Amino acid sequence: MTQAVPGGALDIVPLGGLGQFGMNCTLLRSGADCAVVDVGMMFPPAEFWGIDAILPDVASFLTAEGGRLAAIVLTHGHDDHIGGVARLMQTSEAPVYGSEMTLGLLRSRLRDRDIDPGRRLVPVAGRERIAAGPFSFEFLDITHSVPGTYALAIGTPAGTIVHSADFKIDAEPVAGPPTDLARLAEIGREGVKLLLVDSTNASRPGATGSESTVGRAFGKILREAEGRVFATTFSSHAHRIQQFIDAAAREDRKVAAVGRRMTSSLQIARDAGSLRIPSGILVRPEEIMELPARRGLVIAGGSQGEPASAMARIARGEHPEAEVHRGDLVVHSVRPIPGNEVAIGRMLDALARRGASLAGGDGTGLHVSGHASHDELATLMVTVRPEALLPVHGSYRHLVACARVAESLENPPRRILIAENGDIIRLDGDGIRIEGRVSLRPVLVDRDATRVSDDVLLERRHLGVDGILLPVLVLERATRRLASPPEVLTRGFASESAGSDLLREAARLVADTVRAAEEPAPGGGPPVDLREAVAGAVQRLVRRRTGKRPLVTPIVIEI
Ligand SMILES: [Zn+2]
Ligand SMILES: [Zn+2]
Repeated sequence: MTQAVPGGALDIVPLGGLGQFGMNCTLLRSGADCAVVDVGMMFPPAEFWGIDAILPDVASFLTAEGGRLAAIVLTHGHDDHIGGVARLMQTSEAPVYGSEMTLGLLRSRLRDRDIDPGRRLVPVAGRERIAAGPFSFEFLDITHSVPGTYALAIGTPAGTIVHSADFKIDAEPVAGPPTDLARLAEIGREGVKLLLVDSTNASRPGATGSESTVGRAFGKILREAEGRVFATTFSSHAHRIQQFIDAAAREDRKVAAVGRRMTSSLQIARDAGSLRIPSGILVRPEEIMELPARRGLVIAGGSQGEPASAMARIARGEHPEAEVHRGDLVVHSVRPIPGNEVAIGRMLDALARRGASLAGGDGTGLHVSGHASHDELATLMVTVRPEALLPVHGSYRHLVACARVAESLENPPRRILIAENGDIIRLDGDGIRIEGRVSLRPVLVDRDATRVSDDVLLERRHLGVDGILLPVLVLERATRRLASPPEVLTRGFASESAGSDLLREAARLVADTVRAAEEPAPGGGPPVDLREAVAGAVQRLVRRRTGKRPLVTPIVIEI
């Protein structure tokens, strides 16, 4: 179903990130030439058994629409923006552009999967401009909770569009350049057709607050702490970690990093010039444990309570290098990603049980968001002065809240579009509108990054909820008759009302079904598929008696 884009027109197709948190991905298309901004992952809901991540299916879109991918452009290195890049790079040779920090984080994800990017990763600096097919991308410094975040000014055959990336406007950044409002204003004066803007915190009034406020709160807590201090946050949040390390230096504490991702992210941030570690302060975790308690700070990964992470293992007393003792303090410097609250609660409980005191959460100043609230969104909109606005990055109500911010401006954009994943948004001489839709099927992947089909997921759901029934049939090969009475085994199937009576009835039904299958098909049609007939009969019986829908998988043994 190819939908040709006339020359001079631009299609913007959100493949993820609209109406949901995560999986951010925006495809641009002019003619057959395409470019994609961010290819992120999303955490699956709990009922997606065995699924590790959900990814946008860029490759299938390109195949179905006959598109050529000219570039993969990354705004920043968070997993909800780069988590699907590795998979796309296996089917596309397009170059990948981003900051040193972004590409460093991507490179470590590629290494985990044994993917050699060759020379395809192209680092870019602030205000640098690259060309890709009919598009140009200018990278503009903007502040967020990972260093090396860029907003994008995108030149297209239909005019300039600006993508805010994830951002806030931090007036007092810990390190690195401030938001390049001067250049954004210049681009705004030249004329911007469309602004795509981060809606994550659009419903919050006021401004978000500077990252440097966290350093002050953490400094105070570290000064007063008597025992060892453990701090956990996102491993890529180099500016937060910088403040932890600086506070430790002031209080004469040594620092150890624990966790595979945490150690590798610190190295990536150092290599990218985004983290300065005073010499001699960093020691191995074992050394911290030998120092007097009030001389140590442990920075651990796993702020989201992931069971295999360093902080969760410390909480369970299972970490080989670090231990929490009574009197220690754990600083949880992060906001839970929606869906992770239960795992985080379990981890904090386990830490409390070990006698640690806990700090963190709303109102403590130990975390501040990386996303723009009302005032910063208004500032960006007024600076860029777009003709049209497309809220992105958020669930539906966040997109609407972002639209409200724009409507409240003195000179609001002429058009405000609330779109959803798969909408084709066309920009041309006649203006901007939603022109059609493509149907999207996100990619579900498991721990090995293997794609899991919807059928398999449905089977897992039935297995997980109602278990499995295994009718066992032993047949004589020559006669296709039962050699012994059939049995029905179960795994994970529970039934109080019917119980073993039901299984006996099911076994009788299996025997009847086999006997019926011996009869020649009426009118000489094809012979009955015994497995299917048995499965169908047992399924119907169980559903009628119990209302349950276990998987039914007959096992046929011929002797
Ligand atoms: Zn994001
Ligand atoms: Zn982000």
